[in-house]
Amino acid sequence: MATTAKPQPTMYENVKNQFEKAANVMGLDETVKKILSSTNNEIIVNFPVKMDNGTVEVFTGYRVQHNNVLGPYKGGLRYHPTVDIDAARALATWMTWKTSLAGLPYGGGKGGIQLDPKKYSQGELERITRRFTYALGDNIGPEHDIPAPDVNTNAQMMAWIADTYMSTKSPAERSKNQHVVTGKPVGSGGLEGRDRATGFGVVVTLESWAKLRNTSLEGKRYIVQGFGNVGYWAAHFMNKNGAILVGVQDATGTIYNPEGIDPEALLRFQADNGTISGFKNTQDYNGAEFFGIDCDVIIPAALGNQITAGNADTVKAKVIAEGANGPTDTEGEAILLAKGIEIIPDILCNSGGVIGSYFEWLQNRNGEIWTMDDVIIKLRKKMEDAFNRVVISGGQYKTDWRTAAYIQALVRIEMAYKQRGIFP
Ligand code: GLU
Repeated sequence: MATTAKPQPTMYENVKNQFEKAANVMGLDETVKKILSSTNNEIIVNFPVKMDNGTVEVFTGYRVQHNNVLGPYKGGLRYHPTVDIDAARALATWMTWKTSLAGLPYGGGKGGIQLDPKKYSQGELERITRRFTYALGDNIGPEHDIPAPDVNTNAQMMAWIADTYMSTKSPAERSKNQHVVTGKPVGSGGLEGRDRATGFGVVVTLESWAKLRNTSLEGKRYIVQGFGNVGYWAAHFMNKNGAILVGVQDATGTIYNPEGIDPEALLRFQADNGTISGFKNTQDYNGAEFFGIDCDVIIPAALGNQITAGNADTVKAKVIAEGANGPTDTEGEAILLAKGIEIIPDILCNSGGVIGSYFEWLQNRNGEIWTMDDVIIKLRKKMEDAFNRVVISGGQYKTDWRTAAYIQALVRIEMAYKQRGIFP
């Protein structure tokens, strides 16, 4: 008899499952639950852009604003073929939980454009980014909704967003709008250390995990999925701790070397060759078996829905540090937990990025210039504090760390609604 494979749940379905579980465990107020079950605003813009060959292409851009009870919407813009309204909803909702858990005065938003940036020239990407910013108009704003980098977007693009947005304001208003976007280049209002903030934060949570389990990261073998901003910097700081990188996977290939891979040399190789495949002393590895590599730590730092019912059973690592947003789906997570594998959930693990963004926003708003030391010390403190709160909450509610992290986030939001009430 033919069996039909169960379809992979969408990212937004995963968010809903996670939310439902946490709301039940903590007994979240029903009204608050109802409000948080939908997004506040969903903005879809179609805009034309001149291509290098003289033709015009129309692009679709998304910005979903999930909730702003704690402050302005905050979250990245992603340029990737998987961007659609479902992904934007899921990612925006995760931002609400992430900013709340980190104790920031923000809500959650996320967006992007469904495209493969590799197919466009630098000039085209600039025009796409500027036209998208113009199309969003005052749906974003320094005290309303503040984008940032995400998958395939970078500091240069944030500079274009800032410049375009500021250019639409009257001359006297321009400078005070610099914090409409974070993750800008240092020199254009950007923050020292924002580039490494997410990867550094991932490793701070792993250091906290090691301390909790009376061990250290020294000599621990780890693999990284994604060798972009998050994956590279996480590997950089893991190696500083004496950990050994044994496998890397990205959209261009999967490489393995049980003796260790040097992330700095790999970064240079990737810049020169546009791929990780073929890097010296590594063997190409079957991509479908990547998460089954014999190691202690897995750092997924690419896309969502990577560890699922289809491969969770093969995982040998002791701990998964979710550098990506939503890398583990609900079924995959249940399998991992049953095997006793610990998960440092995305809304905690990768929150270093948005915490760095908050520092940049404060820097711009207050006309300050922070040093790398200011950033690293304050970031570490915030991440360690959030990690400890999640572990304590997990113990109190006798639940897993993802649910515990949700509870920490939801308690703050629930309190804000109780204090403010519902207008009118
Ligand atoms: N895109 C990052 C995230 O998913 C950073 C968001 C931000 O800095 O606003 O958390």
